[in-house]
Parts: sequence; structure tokens; C-alpha cells
Amino acid sequence: MIRWLIAALLVCGAASCATVRGGEPEVIETEAGVIRLDFVEWNEETSELLRTAAPEAAKALSRWGGLREQVRITVVNSHWELEELVGRPLPGISAWARRNQVILWDPRWWPLPPGIQENPALAARLRRTQVTGLLKHELTHSLMFQRAGGPPSDPRNRIPFWFREGMATVTAGEGAQWPPPESLSQWLAKHPGVDLLRDAPQLVRTDPAIAYGAAYHAFDFLVRRYGDATVLQVVDGMRVRDRFPDAFRDALGVNIESFATDFRRYLGWRGFLPAGPRTD
Ligand SMILES: [Zn+2]
Repeated sequence: MIRWLIAALLVCGAASCATVRGGEPEVIETEAGVIRLDFVEWNEETSELLRTAAPEAAKALSRWGGLREQVRITVVNSHWELEELVGRPLPGISAWARRNQVILWDPRWWPLPPGIQENPALAARLRRTQVTGLLKHELTHSLMFQRAGGPPSDPRNRIPFWFREGMATVTAGEGAQWPPPESLSQWLAKHPGVDLLRDAPQLVRTDPAIAYGAAYHAFDFLVRRYGDATVLQVVDGMRVRDRFPDAFRDALGVNIESFATDFRRYLGWRGFLPAGPRTD
């Protein structure tokens, strides 16, 4: 995070910063619903990027029935402003989703991998892929908060980390970004006392890649066994059942503990490997 801030300051100091434009937020019609763009300081380049990336990202939400309410993407100029608006430190995080808002650190200031800066066409393509992926992830959070929550608050803390981040990472297709099941299996063998699902809130502080990898693969395991419709039943069930474990059991017919045991066995017994030739 510190590196990003320094990079942002350097870039902002060297280039002329955004022009300010007042007026109404831009409206983007997508197949998943209406998204509005809102800038702390309007910038043509970022606006254009988002007008392309948001409809592309929204396609991934169709799977879950789309947004029920409008979402506003609020673009801020620095990581510091993002943290200010969210009200907590967000190391390594570029955006934050709420029920009706995604706060986005302007992608113009995101650090690029070494060597990419010198190739503007490649940098633009990479940026577009990154922003589209990030919006898929964040808009999935908004969607789940809209479906699961009663007003006025987001049900963020009522949905367990593994399900919340699992649904977002799987919808955004982030499998390649997180450790594969084999790594989780090996990690578990070294940490037999840890429950990857139940202990995720602590784990995300000490070993975030393992926490996100477990969330991704647990959700993938869930969706492959029970299907998208059951996942939606869990989320929708929270409106009436309030407690996630009750909604989960109603929809799946098994409780979270049984599901967590199945997932643990799947990792421990390497159920993710293709069945090999029989050796009698
Ligand atoms: Zn997330």
C-alpha cells in the first residue's frame, strides 16, 4: 500500500490531474441493471474505461439474476480517500462494495507491473482486464447485499467470509489468482487445527491468499454440487431467516458444519484430482 501511495503521489505530481466536471452522474445501462458513474474529480480516460468495463462486467451478474437496485461507482483519486470513505484501513485493496455503491480508487493510479508502463497499448489492455475483473467481483458483492439484506445496512457481516468472497471470486473467474486446491491441501496438512471456512476471518489477516483461495474453492465446490439456484436460495433465504446458517441449511438440506467437513475431506483426499488408472 505504501508503494502505491508513493507511486500515486509521484504520478499526480508529474502529470496534470483530472479536470473537475459538475452535473449529473453518468448513467450506464447494462444487462444486469443501471450503473451510475460518480467522480470526485471527473476524468475522461477513466470515464471511458468504465463505460466499457462496467457493461462487460455486468454480464457476469446475469447468472445471479442481475442487480435489483441501482449501483453507483464512486471514483476517488487516492487510496487514502478510499480508506477515508470506507472508514477503515484497506491494505492492498482498490475498491469497496456496498449495497448501492462501489467506491473505486481511480485505476489510472494503480501500480503497473515492471516494464508495462513503457508500452501504452499493453498497459491499456491490462488495465481494462483488471478493471473488468474487479467490477465483476465488487458488483457481485452489491448484488448479494441487495438480495440478502433488509434495509438500511449491508448484510456484509452476516454472510461468512468464505461465502461472501467465494461468490465474488468465482463470479469474477479469479481461480488463477489464488492458490489451487493442492496448495490448500498441503497447507491444511501443516495446520490441522484450522478450519478454512470457520476461521477465515482470522486467516485473512495472517494468510490472505489461503483465506481467499479457500473461499474460492469452497464456493466452487458448493456450486458444482448444488448449482446456482441453490446458492440464490441461500442468499434470498437470509431475508426471512436472518441467520446465514439457517438459510444455508434450508436451501441445501445439510448444515454448514457438514458442508465444511465434506470440503475438508475433498481437499484432504484430493478429490480435485482426476480419477487415475486403477491399480488392482
Ligand atoms: Zn470481495
